[in-house]
Amino acid sequence: MIVKTLEEIELIRESSLLVGKTLAEVAKILRPGVKTIELDRVAETFIRDNGAVPGFKGYGDFPATLCISINEQVVHGIPSDREVKDGDLVSIDCGTYLNGYYGDYAYSFAVGEVEDSVRQLLRATKESLYLGAAQAVVGKRIGDIGNAIQSYVESFGYSVVRDLVGHGIGKNLHEKPDVFNYGRKGTGKKLLENIVICIEPMINLGEKEIVMSTDGWTISTFDSKPSAHFEHTVVVKHGQPEFLSTYDYINEVLSQNQNIE
Ligand code: MG
Ligand code: MG
Repeated sequence: MIVKTLEEIELIRESSLLVGKTLAEVAKILRPGVKTIELDRVAETFIRDNGAVPGFKGYGDFPATLCISINEQVVHGIPSDREVKDGDLVSIDCGTYLNGYYGDYAYSFAVGEVEDSVRQLLRATKESLYLGAAQAVVGKRIGDIGNAIQSYVESFGYSVVRDLVGHGIGKNLHEKPDVFNYGRKGTGKKLLENIVICIEPMINLGEKEIVMSTDGWTISTFDSKPSAHFEHTVVVKHGQPEFLSTYDYINEVLSQNQNIE
């Protein structure tokens, strides 16, 4: 795993903040009837207007700026002419590349009147992210992060997707270490001060198994039940982690756009 300098951490923070502002721009127009490709266009334009480039577009041939994954789709959904519907769970993952460093994080929105079970899944998944992140401190190990996430969400009967994990970030979008969303306390690699990691629980309402779509990208739950995804970027520090990403910009929009929460 790559220990970052304080200068590098500031650059990752700038890229991360741009992701947050981009997701807020997207949230402004997120409502029933909007096409996911329209959300993607807004994101790409905003990122380029801010002197950066989309982090995902062209990465492994991914064709878009955003990954937009609806309901049973877990991650890596490709924006299209599909319209968002009332009651949809819409997970949006965004990456930016600015001044040589990547930013990458995700938020799952409830659009319109979603079922209570989905609302609870969203709340628990977001909460599990913060519980996992609280373990991202010197003296802990990778397994402590995963254990905090897994034990919390499983207490509600949800399941943790195993095949997709969080990661280090910096000059590359995906760096070591792998950050599992499951695991045992006190196991795995030791966390070093000033490594920067993306923690991103992908939590299923039903079973943990997933399937790949014929488009080669979109990953969905095998049982077609909903899945939620939240992601933050943090620096491992003594005592408590330092968040480089923030949902503040999104929260501001959530308080204004009555169509989403
Ligand atoms: Mg990520
Ligand atoms: Mg991401």
